[in-house]
Amino acid sequence: AGLWRGEASVGELAEPFAEQVSLGVSNLSLRESLRQQSLVDALTGLHNRRFLDETLRRELLRAARKQVPVAVVLLDVDHFKRFNDTFGHEAGDLVLRHLAMEMKRSVRTSDLACRYGGEEFCLVMPEISREDAIERCESLRLAVSRLQVRYGGQPLGPINISLGLAWFPLDGEQMDALLHAADLALYQAKRGGRNRLCIYRREMDGAEEAPSS
Ligand code: GH3
Ligand code: MG
Ligand code: MG
Repeated sequence: AGLWRGEASVGELAEPFAEQVSLGVSNLSLRESLRQQSLVDALTGLHNRRFLDETLRRELLRAARKQVPVAVVLLDVDHFKRFNDTFGHEAGDLVLRHLAMEMKRSVRTSDLACRYGGEEFCLVMPEISREDAIERCESLRLAVSRLQVRYGGQPLGPINISLGLAWFPLDGEQMDALLHAADLALYQAKRGGRNRLCIYRREMDGAEEAPSS
């Protein structure tokens, strides 16, 4: 007879059930937002290094199978510390956001633009010719140098970037080797006077080690 106490018990049952459902939904969006947070850089909205690690490895396997090249570019803001020192950390953040927007504008949908760390970024361009990769890097560099970013009404002055380009499979078949080659090229671009693109060459290997970044 206890089982037949009527509608009341249905109501009693329904409530925790509804609670469970909404808990499930909020868990889902929480999980989704955690997933996003761990793969997307919060400041710039670009993918982060963790995402790059996962994706580039897969991209190289795919490129090897299809026998197509991949361009890997590391880029770094020139004298970025000056923006922070002169205008403050928030102005520096703003510079990074504008650079990220320019990167998003300049990549194809099949390309990957990531914040590699601090004021360093990485571009991965699968199935692109050498000439096109160089042209894209150059047009990004020019577009960035023409940005006129203001912080609280104050113009922050020109933003320049240096870039290092390495090529799969010629310059490295593994992700780490490729990133290292791109880093060496970037280091050459810095040494050569900044605000330029350098392309990896074998001779860079034995020379001075790039500072670990
Ligand atoms: P170079 O031309 O040799 O690259 O000089 P640089 O000043 O750009 O390089 P350096 O490595 O000396 O300085 C990078 C600075 O970037 C140091 C660090 O405080 C700053 N930085 C790193 N991450 C962030 C960030 O998220 N926001 C801001 N505002 N600054 C950052
Ligand atoms: Mg820098
Ligand atoms: Mg740096």
